Amino acid sequence: MTTTAIAESTTDYIAREDAWGAHNYHPLDLVIAEAQGAWVTDVGGRRYLDCLSAYSAVNQGHCHPRLLRTMVQQAARVTLTSRAFRNDQLGAFCEELGALCGMEMVLPMNTGAEAVETAIKAARRWGYRTKGIAHDQAQIIAFDNNFHGRTTTIVGFSSEPAYREQFGPFAPGFVLVPFGDIDAVRAAMNHNTCAVLIEPIQCEAGVLMPPDGFLRELSALCAREQVLLMADEIQTGLGRTGALFACDHEGVTPDVYILGKALSGGFYPVSAVVSRRDVLGVFGPGSHGSTFGGNPLGCAVAREAMRVLHDEQLVQRSATEGAWLLEQLRSLRHPAIRAVRGRGLMCAVELHEPARPYCEALQQRGVLCKETHGTVIRLSPPLVVARRDLEWAVEQFRAVFTR
Ligand SMILES: *Cc1c(COP(=O)(O)O)cnc(C)c1O
Repeated sequence: MTTTAIAESTTDYIAREDAWGAHNYHPLDLVIAEAQGAWVTDVGGRRYLDCLSAYSAVNQGHCHPRLLRTMVQQAARVTLTSRAFRNDQLGAFCEELGALCGMEMVLPMNTGAEAVETAIKAARRWGYRTKGIAHDQAQIIAFDNNFHGRTTTIVGFSSEPAYREQFGPFAPGFVLVPFGDIDAVRAAMNHNTCAVLIEPIQCEAGVLMPPDGFLRELSALCAREQVLLMADEIQTGLGRTGALFACDHEGVTPDVYILGKALSGGFYPVSAVVSRRDVLGVFGPGSHGSTFGGNPLGCAVAREAMRVLHDEQLVQRSATEGAWLLEQLRSLRHPAIRAVRGRGLMCAVELHEPARPYCEALQQRGVLCKETHGTVIRLSPPLVVARRDLEWAVEQFRAVFTR
């Protein structure tokens, strides 16, 4: 049995996937078979340090033993009830996530994009009911270079041609303004504006941070104009940036948190919209739903994922290890490097040239990074990563950036 498994080479796996799977990604050519903590092992037995963490979905590290135990135990008990019936995990999940966020209500979904869609629905209905916006006129302000997921509504307000091309017609009701430009937000607001949808750090766009004070000004502007501030913290939330939420860096509490990814530690898709009663209260029976949303398996795993975050002090680890890593990356001197930036363990090395060859060189040395937006190497290892592993990763960066 094992001989056939070993006989299948990396190229065989890739050939089969390319023959049968749609080509909507351009992955690095390694085939992962196992993972533990911050490390993954490919089908040939070679180990790599994961510096992407499934876009921050495995903040707690791969195959965390506590999450594994919870997953197996809950899977043996009950996995799915649908919301036609109640289950014994949903209430506790909502209470614990609501408390973690300092909010009153939770609406569970599965993927990030679904949570964003849910927030859009909530904001529009809230706008009609609370602000008296005229029928079908609600407007949401979003930002250039945003990434909020891949549904047709969401890509409809993307500024990235690759995400939109030939997928129209798109839903109206969104306007884009430059990221970090408070005057542009103010100018775009009118009576029909029900919400501003923002990533507090634009990760997919290349780990772009707004100017200091912007989120605070935005929060004040939204409060003054009776507009919901909706923070898409699907990637930045739950410790990634060295705070529980990226909004915390400016002391801002949005009206709506949109969460996903690390909410289940990479085990099982769990997303959620977390907000006040007056916002999520707009949903009555029949107005919204999801077959798998709020299922007991997902809720049990997410509850344990939140406890791991707390018990292993992953937010603090992200802050200290991230600060150290950023300092090390800043000391790299190479003509190809244009800028180094980051917050917590969300770091980026921006180049003057395509980042892909550098990611491939790092892969050869056992460090897995993926370029984003062509010229940016994003580094976001699991928050459990050991300092000695980061030291080793920095050595590999030094080797790649001295050639
Ligand atoms: C990943 C991501 C999403 C989409 O989440 P999916 O689970 O892939 O649908 C939305 N917003 C942000 C900021 C993300 O990083």
